Amino acid sequence: MTQPDVGRIDGLTYPHGVAYMAGRFLPMSEARISVLDWGLLHSDVTYDTVHVWDGKFFRLDLHIERFRRSLAKLRLTVPHDDDALRGILIECVRRSGHRNAYVEMLCTRGISPTFSRDPREALNQFVAFAVPFGSVANARQVKEGLHLYLIDSVRRIPPESVDPQIKNYHWLDLVTAQFHGFDAGAETVVIKDMDGNIAEGPGFNIFAVKNGTLYTPERGVLHGITRRTVFDIAAQEGFAVNAGAVDETLLRDADEIFITSTAGGIMPVSRLNDTPVGNGRPGEITQAVFRVYWAWHNDPAYTLDVDYDGDHHAR
Ligand code: PLP
Repeated sequence: MTQPDVGRIDGLTYPHGVAYMAGRFLPMSEARISVLDWGLLHSDVTYDTVHVWDGKFFRLDLHIERFRRSLAKLRLTVPHDDDALRGILIECVRRSGHRNAYVEMLCTRGISPTFSRDPREALNQFVAFAVPFGSVANARQVKEGLHLYLIDSVRRIPPESVDPQIKNYHWLDLVTAQFHGFDAGAETVVIKDMDGNIAEGPGFNIFAVKNGTLYTPERGVLHGITRRTVFDIAAQEGFAVNAGAVDETLLRDADEIFITSTAGGIMPVSRLNDTPVGNGRPGEITQAVFRVYWAWHNDPAYTLDVDYDGDHHAR
């Protein structure tokens, strides 16, 4: 199994990982894009993130389908069919040796050879990489719950401006809110949409549980694959789900709150601003969803094994 060193280049240290770009697999430290790439200059890029847990991809096909929809909406082209794409992602993980990995596929608008301002003239750039699994919540927070702040001073970019179903890096609203939250003592934050309803947080969807029903925002948020998995778990376990407008009162009165992301899974919230949620500990429904979510990581219906001794790259 290849184990490239943790990269140090130009005085910077990179996480141990493997990337694929321009037809080659590279140590993470060597995977670079030009400063002229529209992905950087205009945030003209889409991406998707899937995780590998205990050597298995979780719901990879759903992530590839969502990536394809994002690419089509942005009129970006990736020169790989689904089998080749899957092969590249598996090979990044295999070469990294990571049993628990955060795996990203992205496509930037790229560079126009003449620095033209016409996006049709740019050459789209596909990049994939696998680095160690990262989570929105640390181990203590996953066990005991996060201290979440609802931030009112920054509103989520409206879906009329940027379609949230195109998974994107337009994160200045989310990052600004994070700093406002950190100043107030938050561990993470959730923001509202322009109508004043609850939207989402930096890299996660949110669920409130009230009287046994799960509520989650529908409009103006990314329809996360973890959120979708919660719907599937709820159907199996017999929990009612209401995907629609979630107002501040519903969130503040919730019996339980949890957040969902590929980066961490199902993560309980124990405090909202200065108030404990429920009894201040992860709630029963949250824990039930958590257990099924991780059990499904061993279910072949939802997983794809990485053969760390093989070579998956479709040549
Ligand atoms: N919302 C936003 C803005 C995100 O960036 C993400 C993931 O990165 C999510 C929600 C959760 O989506 P998923 O469950 O597919 O990881």
